[in-house]
Amino acid sequence: MRYRAELNCYLCSRGAATLEWDEAHADAVAVSRPGQSIVEMTARAARKVRCARCGGPTYIEEIERVRPPQVVVIEPARRGRPRKEDKERELALERDQLARIA
Ligand SMILES: [Zn+2]
Repeated sequence: MRYRAELNCYLCSRGAATLEWDEAHADAVAVSRPGQSIVEMTARAARKVRCARCGGPTYIEEIERVRPPQVVVIEPARRGRPRKEDKERELALERDQLARIA
């Protein structure tokens, strides 16, 4: 499971950084700050990241779970009127895929 958290500045209340980490490797946090490249830090160092604009201390606004993108394969459309059993099979497949995404 992967998590993402936004670090906001106490002084100017702007977004200071975005932290991302894997549950299995909680001490390897990818820190992305505006205008800077992504850096990997320990959890302790990532928590001490300061605001890039005013140098103020930061706090974690909210931690969210990152959902991996779902790959859905859609068959190309065929010409002509679909056969009834094909249509029912497609509808069942579509329902199944929608249930997985939602
Ligand atoms: Zn700030």
